[in-house]
Amino acid sequence: MTEAEQRSVAVRNPRTGAVDFHLPVASHAQVAEKAARLRKNQPAWAALPLQQRIGVMQRWLGEVAKRANDISAADAVDTGGCHTSYVQGFITMGNIGGWIEDAEAALEKAAYHGPSRAMPSVEVRTQFVPYPLVSVIGPWNAPMMLVLLDAIPALFAGCAVLIKPSEVTPRWVAPLFETVAQVPELAAVFEFVHGDGTTGKAMIEEADLVCFTGSVPTGRKIAVQCAERLIPCYLELGGKDPVIVTETADLERATTAVLRGAVHANGMVCFSVERIYVAEAIHDAFVKLLAEKAEKVRLNCDDPRAGHLHPFTFAPQAKIVAQQLAEAVDKGASVLTGGRVEEIGGGLYMRPTIVTGVDHTMALMRDETFGPILPVMPFASVEEAIALANDTEFGLTANVIAGSEEEALAIGERLNAGSVFMQDTFLTFAKNRTVGSNSFGVSGVGGGARTGPEAILRYVRRKALLTQHGEPADIQNDHHLGKPAGA
Ligand code: NAD
Repeated sequence: MTEAEQRSVAVRNPRTGAVDFHLPVASHAQVAEKAARLRKNQPAWAALPLQQRIGVMQRWLGEVAKRANDISAADAVDTGGCHTSYVQGFITMGNIGGWIEDAEAALEKAAYHGPSRAMPSVEVRTQFVPYPLVSVIGPWNAPMMLVLLDAIPALFAGCAVLIKPSEVTPRWVAPLFETVAQVPELAAVFEFVHGDGTTGKAMIEEADLVCFTGSVPTGRKIAVQCAERLIPCYLELGGKDPVIVTETADLERATTAVLRGAVHANGMVCFSVERIYVAEAIHDAFVKLLAEKAEKVRLNCDDPRAGHLHPFTFAPQAKIVAQQLAEAVDKGASVLTGGRVEEIGGGLYMRPTIVTGVDHTMALMRDETFGPILPVMPFASVEEAIALANDTEFGLTANVIAGSEEEALAIGERLNAGSVFMQDTFLTFAKNRTVGSNSFGVSGVGGGARTGPEAILRYVRRKALLTQHGEPADIQNDHHLGKPAGA
């Protein structure tokens, strides 16, 4: 393909609104070429004893450490200056360092070596065989973190990995892969392609396993394509996450936690708080205090490192948010704070927007919003609150703030979500290296869990090796095979 034939995507800078980056869209042939190279190199990577792979990853960690600030800065240009962008290089170091410590023990824990319980003369051992080529396709929010969350354990497991960043947020890839290039053994099995959905489709055609983070509609298409090829896919999709604030809750705690949970990263987080259910008895006082705190939140338009809210990373998202708000207002909702998209220096911003008088007929309470919106709805009883919180097709996370931890736990146990945060919001990061969880509803599908040490098992096939130490069964006398236990 000549350079002139290469299709490209214009990438908008979220802070200036200007197109300042052009992305070449990799064709299927280009994806296939990279996939073939990765496949060729993967057996040698998988054949390395785990400790040697860990040694390679340790060297990569050293290279990432040297460039952590540059990597973070590139991610910040992509997102428009999200708070967490400025620490992404260091989060990546934590990700690699965590697997250096955890990979071996996690695999050992899942392995078995010993006699069969059903047939004691047979020795059983587990072998982990990595999927040769894993394709990882990412979204535009937390763009680097969400790709590496899957790519890094897959590399530790012995897979080759091909990643594609979102075409909206591709800048972080260049500095990161400069660090990969410093470690030749890793560069042989870890590559990226740029492109849009067509490139993503080609990556699925070439893969043995697909990890996808993004929207429900795209997830559905990917699930179908993977089903056609009979390959597994892990889909981490959207959310419409609720918080329940009970009558006994401490208002200071509740308003602080809810505000951050709803507007951190401008609300463009899959587990943002997007529905707020508050006990009738405290509703007005809660809203008043929440509004006071919301008014103090500042935009980061003058200086990305000062202020709290960055612009919309993806300009069309601002339209979706405005449409949902307008529809809610048409149906009778009231906007107490914020409420409009402000264009400042070419960036599209929105201040924390508290909305009351909402109900479940409104898209604002049903569909993913991905903006700094806080729709508050009163409830008369805890039963009603639980029913409202569970009235959703999603089930990523949920939150409960109550007067006591016991009260919160009793409610949390009844909510349909993969993780429930109690007495706070936004506790997702506390799961890392500790525990896995499975999403409910359309928020995610696929085997195993993405967090916790067992996440590495997603990238290997578990093979059982069975050796008969006794005499083989004789076809003339094989009744023992069907003999019930204890008979
Ligand atoms: P998106 O679905 O529009 O795109 C995600 C990626 O898929 C992009 O890289 C895109 O190029 C690619 N793609 C598009 N069509 C494709 C196809 N047919 N085949 C293969 N790849 C294709 O998502 P987005 O708007 O970038 O991301 C925001 C969404 O991601 C939100 O819904 C958010 O909730 C979700 N998300 C989920 C999690 C989670 O862990 N559950 C985390 C972050 C974001």
